Amino acid sequence: QTDTKNLRRLVRDIPDYPKPGILFRDITPMLVDPEALHQATDALAAPFLGQKIDIIAAAEARGFIFAAPLAMKLGAGFVPIRKPGKLPFDFHSFAYELEYGTDELQMHVDGVKPGQRVVIVDDLLATGGTMEACCRLLEKCDAEIVGCSFLIHLVPLGGEERLSPHKVHSVLQYE
Ligand code: 5GP
Repeated sequence: QTDTKNLRRLVRDIPDYPKPGILFRDITPMLVDPEALHQATDALAAPFLGQKIDIIAAAEARGFIFAAPLAMKLGAGFVPIRKPGKLPFDFHSFAYELEYGTDELQMHVDGVKPGQRVVIVDDLLATGGTMEACCRLLEKCDAEIVGCSFLIHLVPLGGEERLSPHKVHSVLQYE
């Protein structure tokens, strides 16, 4: 059983970052704590232990922090999902709406083979736009998305509904 109280204590609230009115959940105090970093990785992996997981996928930058340790824990490989201009080989692309403008994520066409079982990880679920883009990219490769795992879930922002029917797991929920 994870002591989520300890993890929650290590998330720092930063008001008005990166813009006025936004309360940013800063996970760096958790990352710098060796025991908490371990606990967080274990908690992200917990629902998938004992299942066959082929690939952990994650979007840069904060998703990468947890993806490699999670892949090693679950006996899986790692596939990076990146912002435009970073991938050297042929890639799939998915553009999505932001409050102001659009954003885009990309993944190598051979990142995942059809039917491979994938868990996608990120530090935080807000509106779900980032994770939805990751899911769309993996669907283009005919991957089987086993679940999406987050350290933090900002529940009122509706990300879980947006990702339906994919399974959402989160370690810390914020109302
Ligand atoms: P969404 O696409 O679900 O609206 O936003 C989630 C993405 O934005 C994640 O990739 C996450 O890293 C980043 N993000 C948005 N708000 C925060 C926040 O308060 N704290 C952290 N650590 N990341 C955030």
